[in-house]
Amino acid sequence: MQTVWVLGAGQLGAMLQQAAYPLALRVEPLDPDVTALPSIGDNDIVTVEREQWPETALTRHLSEHPNFVNADVFWRIADRFHQKSLLDSLDVATAPWRAVEQDTSADELHQALGKDVLLKRRTGGYDGKGQYWLHSDNADDVPAAWQGTAIAEQKIPFMEELSLVGARDSNGKHVFYPLTLNLHSNGILMASVAPLSRVDHLQGQAQAMLGKIMDAMNYVGVMAMECFRVGDELIVNELAPRVHNSGHWTQAGACVSQFEMHLRAVAKLPIKAPEVRGHSVMINLIGIERDTRWMAIPSTQCYWYGKDVRPGRKLGHININHPQLSAVSTALEALKQQLPENYGPVFDWVESQLT
Ligand code: ATP
Ligand code: MG
Repeated sequence: MQTVWVLGAGQLGAMLQQAAYPLALRVEPLDPDVTALPSIGDNDIVTVEREQWPETALTRHLSEHPNFVNADVFWRIADRFHQKSLLDSLDVATAPWRAVEQDTSADELHQALGKDVLLKRRTGGYDGKGQYWLHSDNADDVPAAWQGTAIAEQKIPFMEELSLVGARDSNGKHVFYPLTLNLHSNGILMASVAPLSRVDHLQGQAQAMLGKIMDAMNYVGVMAMECFRVGDELIVNELAPRVHNSGHWTQAGACVSQFEMHLRAVAKLPIKAPEVRGHSVMINLIGIERDTRWMAIPSTQCYWYGKDVRPGRKLGHININHPQLSAVSTALEALKQQLPENYGPVFDWVESQLT
């Protein structure tokens, strides 16, 4: 059996593994720190579930394999400086930005980017970790630890956050899922809704942007593009060269999930425009204990990742999918009773999108 080795052994690797079965592929997620190096066959494939990895014996071993897909892409996306430079060079709209050098002052950043400026670590940030706001009203300075290690972005007064998940195969064919509407709280994705007819008119714009980005890098596999919506303009927030949390709903709501689509593309199997079924909502389970009652709610799929429970940590997700909106609302109502009170605003937001 052909094996797809996945750099990274978190939930994304596990869900790739689940998706591999109908393709008769074997997926082996690997922790970057593992010391026993696997023997990788000549016909095997190497892919990633994370774009950032430490320099270890395993990561060197994997990245030297000739079938390491997108080998030349990760450094350009994993470092926000290179990622933002790439978007600028392609003329793809992104939040105006500056590099934060050793001697860059807060004044210079405010002059260039306005009174509220968001510092983002060049590498390693996730779930809103690795961000720092500078407000000119407070006369904040650039903290020493951020000098030379960050970029600065203009605050975007966005109406909402949308993401596009797409895939490209090695012949350059593109396929895309419908735009997904995302709710973030403190930098963490809480919920997604898709498809949404009121954003259909933005689909072409989004596809043109992500298509151009994937073509420019000769990318193969699934890529996600997180966007801010300002009026009818999309502004790229960031790219993820991998399967993405905002695409988890495709497990229930599309004939080919993002996980299967990624595997098809990297294994040179046909990819196709995913037919979407019904209405989907994805709720992330953040920092809470598992409650098996969730599993009995009709129209849901429950994923529990088996990680240690810690505040703010992504521990699982629930997909709700049904052809009828009323059934989705009924499932949401049942789930709301079983999740902690702080999920109230998340359910309010989802309900407001469905009506
Ligand atoms: P992820 O977990 O998706 O990798 P991250 O920690 O890498 O997230 P971003 O996606 O860059 O960070 O930012 C997290 C959230 O912070 C965004 O989804 C958005 O809500 C907010 N945000 C980021 N950049 C800006 C900006 N320039 N203006 C306003 N809000 C922003
Ligand atoms: Mg993000």
